[in-house]
Amino acid sequence: MAFELIKKVRLCEVGLRDGLQNEKKILTADEKMELLDGVQAAGFPVIEVGSFVGPRAVPQMADTDQLFMRMKKRDGVEYRALVANVKGVERAEACGCKKIKLNVSASVSHNLANLNCTPAQSVARFGECVDRAGAAGIEVSGSISMAFGSPWDEEIPIGNVQEIVEAYLNAGITEISLSDASGMAYPSQVYDICLKMKENYPQVNWWLHFHNTRGLGIANILTAMQLGFAQFDTSFAGTGGCPFVPGAAGNVATEDVLHMCEEMGIETGIDLDCAMEVGHRAESLLGHPASSCVLKAGKAKDILLMKPEGQTIK
Ligand code: ZN
Repeated sequence: MAFELIKKVRLCEVGLRDGLQNEKKILTADEKMELLDGVQAAGFPVIEVGSFVGPRAVPQMADTDQLFMRMKKRDGVEYRALVANVKGVERAEACGCKKIKLNVSASVSHNLANLNCTPAQSVARFGECVDRAGAAGIEVSGSISMAFGSPWDEEIPIGNVQEIVEAYLNAGITEISLSDASGMAYPSQVYDICLKMKENYPQVNWWLHFHNTRGLGIANILTAMQLGFAQFDTSFAGTGGCPFVPGAAGNVATEDVLHMCEEMGIETGIDLDCAMEVGHRAESLLGHPASSCVLKAGKAKDILLMKPEGQTIK
C-alpha cells in the first residue's frame, strides 16, 4: 500500500515572535529586520512578525510596531501579530498590521489563577477586540494554548477545548490554532484530538502549533497531516521556549519541517536553502546553537558532497 499524504502545506514562520520572545538576548530592530527580510526571501506564505503586548512584560517584542512600519510587504503574504487586548488592536491598526491572533490557555486552573475567569469567559471578553479589529479592517484569529496538556492540570479534557472553540466561533472567529506550548502532545493523542475537532467543527480553518520540548514536534505534525491538517507554525532554528513552563523548548524547527516536506515531495513554496541561511543567521545573532537537526547535520541530499577525500561511492 502506498504511503499517502496531503500534497501541500502552509507554514507560518513564528521565529520572530515565539522564538525571539523567549530568548534572553534582545535583538535590535535592525537585526530583526535582517531576519524578517530573509524569511520573506525564503517565500513563507504566513509570517508572525511579533506581538502587541506590554513592553515591560515582554521587552523582546517592544518594537513590533516599528517592524511593521519598516518592512516591505509582499503581495499574497500574510503578516500577523499576537494581541492580548484592545490596546494591542489599536497598536496593530496604527502600524498597518492586518491580521491579529488572540490567545487563551485551555488550562482552567491557569486561567482562574491569572485572570480570575474560565478560558471560555476570557474568549467572550475578546468581543471588544474583535469589534475594534473589524472596524479597522483587521482579520482576527484565535489560538488555544495548552490544548494538549498543561503542567497545572492532570489532563485537559477535550470538552474544555471544545468549549473554547465554541466561544471563538460565537465571537465570529473561525481561524483557530491548537497550540502545544508545554510540549506535552504526542502523536496518538494528536490524532484523536484533531480528528474530533475536524469532525465536530468542519467550518474551522485550523492551524497547529507544536513545541519540540520532548522531540515529538515533527511526529505530531506528520500525524496531523495524515488527517488532512495543512497549516503549521514553525520557528527558525527551533528558537524559543515558554516562560511559564519548566524546561520548555521552542517550536519545531522550520528547517526540519521543510526538509521533511522536501524529501516527501510535499509542496511548501518555501526555499529550504534560504530558510537554512536564516536559521544560521538567527543562531549567530542569538549567540548560541539552536535545536534544529537539519541546521546541525545539513540536508540529507548534501551528504554526498561531504564524503571524505579519495573515497568512492559504492
Ligand atoms: Zn509557542
